[in-house]
Amino acid sequence: MARLFVSDVHLDAAAPQATEQFLSFLREQAAAAEALYILGDLFEAWVGDDDEEPGNERVCRALRELTSGGVACFALHGNRDFLLGAGFCARSGCRVLSDPVITQLDGERVLLTHGDALCTDDHPYQELRSMVRDRTWQQRFLALPRAHREQLADEARQGSRRHIARTVPDIMDVNGAAVAAAFRAARVQRIVHGHTHRPGVHRLEIDGTARERIVLGAWYEQGSYLRYERGRYQLCTLPRH
Ligand code: MN
Repeated sequence: MARLFVSDVHLDAAAPQATEQFLSFLREQAAAAEALYILGDLFEAWVGDDDEEPGNERVCRALRELTSGGVACFALHGNRDFLLGAGFCARSGCRVLSDPVITQLDGERVLLTHGDALCTDDHPYQELRSMVRDRTWQQRFLALPRAHREQLADEARQGSRRHIARTVPDIMDVNGAAVAAAFRAARVQRIVHGHTHRPGVHRLEIDGTARERIVLGAWYEQGSYLRYERGRYQLCTLPRH
């Protein structure tokens, strides 16, 4: 049976078509798989496990149905939904894995990561990342009333849009040295990640060994997932009508 990987679904009440498409992906492709790995940014925003956005709640219920049906679901934190916690796991039946994580696919060790940690050329972003991934910062944020957290998340998204608009695109892609370091540290020949919204399969050689970096696509304009079965990896797209 297949294992499926998605990233950067960016589910958002403002984009109901993407939510519908992801829900049908869960009912169809994912329901027929052995496992689903969500490599970060499933949600455009997640201000805490008390999130009550109706679209997000539908997705949690659909994930719960999937996991109850025997499909193992794993989630990594993205830069938008790094506050997914125990409450999300209880609601969805997903297991949150720490980023990066090594999984075994038929005996091959494969590194899974959201991918933002590899974008080391983007210094302002990396500074922000260290701040919001700090446990003390998170506890202080989660102690705020939800309406206040939602307002801060909106402001952060506007700030992010301004940052993206004025940053050279290459700065926001992965850094070659960071990628090489990740391959070496994990001692793997394959990395699967998302975040950059630049789907593709990159073959490279590091220390005389052939390696492969598979980048998952975002779900803004179409569905996108990676399918693994019996040693074969296939990047797939789902057209949106
Ligand atoms: Mn991301």
